[in-house]
Amino acid sequence: MDIDWKGIIGHEENIARLRRMLREGRLPHALLFTGPEGVGKCRAARTLAAALLCGEPEGPCGKCPSCLALRQDSHPDYYEVRPESRGKGARAIRIEQIREMQAEASRLPILSHRRAVVIDDAELMNEAAENSLLKTLEEPTGQVTFLLVTGSRASLLDTIISRCMPVSFGMLPMDELAGLLACRGISTAEAEELAVLSDGSMGRALALHENDGMKLRDDAMAFLEGLGAMDMGKIWLRGKDMGEQGREKISEWLMYLNMLLRDMLVLYESDDSGIIYARDIQRKLADMLPEFPKGRIFQMLRLVKESQCRLQANVNLRLFMEGVLIRLKDI
Ligand SMILES: [Zn+2]
Repeated sequence: MDIDWKGIIGHEENIARLRRMLREGRLPHALLFTGPEGVGKCRAARTLAAALLCGEPEGPCGKCPSCLALRQDSHPDYYEVRPESRGKGARAIRIEQIREMQAEASRLPILSHRRAVVIDDAELMNEAAENSLLKTLEEPTGQVTFLLVTGSRASLLDTIISRCMPVSFGMLPMDELAGLLACRGISTAEAEELAVLSDGSMGRALALHENDGMKLRDDAMAFLEGLGAMDMGKIWLRGKDMGEQGREKISEWLMYLNMLLRDMLVLYESDDSGIIYARDIQRKLADMLPEFPKGRIFQMLRLVKESQCRLQANVNLRLFMEGVLIRLKDI
């Protein structure tokens, strides 16, 4: 199998954190890698396992006996559990598989100084398997590290989740995300646009695709365009209207406003170094720049961020929105 940190696309923060913990000997005995399908979390788990088993301090080195054995899929201290389908039954991880793993994991390591177990698609453990694994997680032997990988954290027992250090692999590089979206039947053009708009988040991309997210963005754009001509009557109307739409919609709307303002800042830079999210309305945004000097944009961004935090508190949404709109207009 492939064991190289460089082979993993994105997730730099997670990887840096895991490597630091490993170096400092702070890695817990059980970790739970979560994230959408196809983001590389299993690959990351395998590479972490390789690093744990490698003879070098900053592994995996790729050259020591441990790394060579892993590459040939013949490492005696590495164990991987994956769902199996039997007959016509659905894919599942059954209790026998967990028992086999437990028997292996309880032995002393042979080639490395410890053992590593990766359980991929852990949400497919049946209940008996989960309960059996739970016992092992409750009584760590100290010589084995468990790396659970799942695309559906909510399907696992809370008691399992609570015994693992969570590592979330939420965000994806944009071209990879676009590819995954296209695999779900979304046209290539839309997939590319969604990937850029969603800032690399699969969940947000799908929400955009399914929940008319573009409409909210266009509304945020219309708000910016009409900001100069906005009087108190319009603000009250808009505040009432948005207040009725609920917290989630307001939060999304603020996110789009944030995105558009950020796009304008990028447009101020002439070297094309930044990514424009709203590429389809880039021209319109550029035309608005004279009305939005950088200082104003920064102030607005600060206000939007602050509002996003305050929105989470229990506030009267209509009054909240009126306040936000008035302050945005006054900047
Ligand atoms: Zn090595």
